[in-house]
Amino acid sequence: MENLGIEIVNLHKKYDDVHAVQGIDLSIKKGEFYGLLGPNGAGKSTTINSITSLVKPTSGNIKILGKDIVSDFRYARSQVGIAAQELSNDWFFPLEDLLYYQAGFYGVTRKDAQQRIEYILEKLGLYEHRKKKMRMLSGGMKRRLQIAKALVHDPQILILDEPTAGVDVELRHDLWKYLKELHAEGKTILLTTHYIDEAELLCERVGIIDQGKLIVEDTVKNLKSMVNKSGIVIHTKDRGLNLDQLLDDFKPSITHNRIEILTKTPNIDLPKIILKLSENNVIIEDIQLPQASLEDVFLELTGRKIND
Ligand code: ADP
Repeated sequence: MENLGIEIVNLHKKYDDVHAVQGIDLSIKKGEFYGLLGPNGAGKSTTINSITSLVKPTSGNIKILGKDIVSDFRYARSQVGIAAQELSNDWFFPLEDLLYYQAGFYGVTRKDAQQRIEYILEKLGLYEHRKKKMRMLSGGMKRRLQIAKALVHDPQILILDEPTAGVDVELRHDLWKYLKELHAEGKTILLTTHYIDEAELLCERVGIIDQGKLIVEDTVKNLKSMVNKSGIVIHTKDRGLNLDQLLDDFKPSITHNRIEILTKTPNIDLPKIILKLSENNVIIEDIQLPQASLEDVFLELTGRKIND
């Protein structure tokens, strides 16, 4: 299809006796921000590394912007930037030099690359560290360097393997902000993560992957609405005598002065509940609207937690 950034059809990868990817199909639109969420060992890295030929698939087809990555490998390489998990061994080079080498690898001259490299270093908070050798960098800096390397040739498509693993909280927020900017510029972004908050916050669509299979994919909102976990929790001042009866229509579970109601439409039910309570002189102390998370979705589908 014409408007696809990345298309994966029936991808399989077997490593000896491990069937790491078992028939994955993915269609990611141009400009979309897509997240592959799943536990360690689910097959996320294998899937995305297949896109850039870091992994040779056992079978399946992959297209980048409509072109096959095998028959049109030069095109695919020019359009994709990948920040993989594995670090190369360039321990003794200053990180700035590594970026110039990377630009050279994509045929960008030093002169043409300079402005872009300085901009990326600045954006990723690496400018002041640009003369440091790779082996001197912290884990978070190495992660950011990987992202910088993926961006030097200004690719349309950005693939990030666990971009914030091992990155501290503040930096994580800076990185998220930058990824949102890149998305707003129109880049197609595919990231893998085992962080639920990262997937929920950044991704327009999320594919949940487990044991080599894509078990579900949708917008974060639609995924959350699959589980009946969202609801309304109200604390009242006293244990009203007839709370059960008053709220019978909403099938509440009530313990002492705590009322819990499971609903997929809290926006519609909450005003009705408040009205019922106040008409009957029940004083409300506190209202909460707990939401289902993607962890609940994963739990419902697999019986396990993502980060167990
Ligand atoms: P994830 O990125 O979701 O953590 P991976 O794609 O890294 O998952 O791994 C999927 C499965 O494939 C795991 O069981 C892992 O041990 C196995 N695997 C990954 N790479 C290799 C390899 N080079 N050789 C053998 N097995 C591998």
